[in-house]
Amino acid sequence: MPRLDRPSTNESGSGMRGKYNPNTIIPWNCVRMESESFAVLNMMLPMDNSPIIDVAQYHSHRSITDGKQQFRYVYCSTKNVYTDDDGRQRQITPGECDLCKSQDEDTKTTRPRFNLWAFCYAIYHANQNPRAGRYDDAEEWDQRRVGNRHYYQEKVMKPQILQAPQTVINIFRGYEERLGAEKFVSSNFDLAKRGIAPAVQYTGYESQVQLPSITDDIRGIVESLPDIEKVSAELITEWEFPQLMPDSGDAESGKAKDAFEAAGGEF
Ligand SMILES: [Zn+2]
Repeated sequence: MPRLDRPSTNESGSGMRGKYNPNTIIPWNCVRMESESFAVLNMMLPMDNSPIIDVAQYHSHRSITDGKQQFRYVYCSTKNVYTDDDGRQRQITPGECDLCKSQDEDTKTTRPRFNLWAFCYAIYHANQNPRAGRYDDAEEWDQRRVGNRHYYQEKVMKPQILQAPQTVINIFRGYEERLGAEKFVSSNFDLAKRGIAPAVQYTGYESQVQLPSITDDIRGIVESLPDIEKVSAELITEWEFPQLMPDSGDAESGKAKDAFEAAGGEF
């Protein structure tokens, strides 16, 4: 299923040959939270008919790899369709979905999940970076106190893909209703995660963290973002954005915007 700003479509599949791709969309460009951590986010645009939110049908797929239970959400190539200008239904990505043919009802069933662009200031982790000291590019995260708890702060300062169930969308829609669209987009939120997929609970609050005033800069980069529908469908899998630098003056933030546009221009 398509971006929210597409005219509404029905679910159905047209058969095309191919294989499902078990890879989830590139994990290092996603908001990565483990249980007991939270992300500080700005939603960039109002939620209604948003061109940066995609809703798509996913299978819940369990498998055993190296004796370990694995769980992942798999994008359904067959059911994710849109209606073209001639009223025909077209798959967003080609290929017939193997999981739709599964004998197992739980595997065969799909449920909607959302992918959306959000600006991620930082992730506050319960534990130190597990990659620090093991990989050259991995940094130690700074300790930060938020409320009465200690966290390890991973600075992100980039737009990232938030992979979310309906419950997360409901949290943000609730805030949008209460605050109004204008205040909503200039507000920042803490989204906390507890549990391991598929049993994850999310809670959201207006952010408790002191943040730089960069919501205007954030809005300036929305147009440079890769098409969220293509990202969901894994038709776009790579991009590189610079970090927004909060302490810079106007000239610098102008540079950041140019850099985002340059990155966006490649898609
Ligand atoms: Zn399927």
